[in-house]
Amino acid sequence: MVVIPGDGIGPEIVEQTLRVLEAAQKGAAFSLDLEFHSAGAGEHRRTGRALSEETFEACKRANAVLKGPVGDPAVRAPDGTEAGVLGGILRTGLDAYANVRPIRLYPGVASALSGLAPGAIDYVVMRENTEGLYASRGRGFVSPEATLDFMLMTRRGVERIARKAFELARTRQGAPKDGVRRVTCVDKANVLRGFAYFRQIFLEVAKGYPDIQPECRHADATAASLVQDPGRFDVLVTENFLGDLLSDLGGGTIGGLGMCPSGNLGDERAYFEPVHGSAPDIAGQDRANPIAMVLSAAMMLHWLGEAAAASRIQEAASRALSAGAIRLFPDGTVRDGTVAAGRAISGEL
Ligand code: NAD
Repeated sequence: MVVIPGDGIGPEIVEQTLRVLEAAQKGAAFSLDLEFHSAGAGEHRRTGRALSEETFEACKRANAVLKGPVGDPAVRAPDGTEAGVLGGILRTGLDAYANVRPIRLYPGVASALSGLAPGAIDYVVMRENTEGLYASRGRGFVSPEATLDFMLMTRRGVERIARKAFELARTRQGAPKDGVRRVTCVDKANVLRGFAYFRQIFLEVAKGYPDIQPECRHADATAASLVQDPGRFDVLVTENFLGDLLSDLGGGTIGGLGMCPSGNLGDERAYFEPVHGSAPDIAGQDRANPIAMVLSAAMMLHWLGEAAAASRIQEAASRALSAGAIRLFPDGTVRDGTVAAGRAISGEL
């Protein structure tokens, strides 16, 4: 497996995650073969490229990739966008079209929403990863007077992400509030043709899954419902940019971005990373919450067929939180430090 420590808090949280993975391997019937590669803003500063050909080939060859967050707002391309981020290269390059972002309220974590019991928020944002508005990255029209970015939807792209969402819903227990297995298509079909097309194809795909309840909602109203009534959601499927936004909103309701893992899944390749970025504001201070990174590694083990080890890691993180061995400040940083949090989870294992 390829490991990319990343920038900012990346190396700190990856170190704790490797500690947890080591503990998870003790006595287990599998072992991970780690291959470290540098990529991101630091790599761009050193070499002029965020991802070398060699690292990209290693990612293609690997059974899985564990990636820390990357990026440095000071490392920019001439068009003003950041040059040290990898999403545009890895997601399309590995055809990792499904960005699976679980949003779950763990025991011991105070939600920014009052009066919620652990488990009251438990949904997954299934974000399309290779098309939508971000397909315009580096390709939009720019002039001194105006700019234009486009939003790409293809039948193949929408069909496969919709299918992935329904398949995922089949493996889950439904929404926490009513136990209904439900896939919510989130769009702005009332305004943009592209979203109307997305919705139409979603409804076509839904016919193949009569056991799952399909529904369509506008993204603006959904943002409000994710705050006011999060328990009614099970799986949400949406376009690239909207998925990016709404999953971070979800993170704000479950203890912060440091609680949000993700997997970028293709049919053959996948890579795993926290939802959050490199958090330069807290880097090097032993304050970053490593749980998103640790749970991303658990998702990776699941992908690799080690579901039991993946569950053991999730349960260990859950126990460390509920026992108070890991405590979060309201801003999402860890009270006792990143290293102590990593030790608490590996200790539980
Ligand atoms: P960010 O996610 O890095 O940080 C947003 C806020 O959340 C900050 O206050 C930060 O301190 C906090 N935060 C993030 N992760 C945390 C954690 N594990 N524990 C506690 N607090 C945490 O977003 P940003 O500030 O918009 O971006 C910073 C850099 O990260 C940029 O260069 C951006 O391009 C990059 N980025 C990378 C990825 C990625 O690698 N997948 C994703 C998003 C942003």
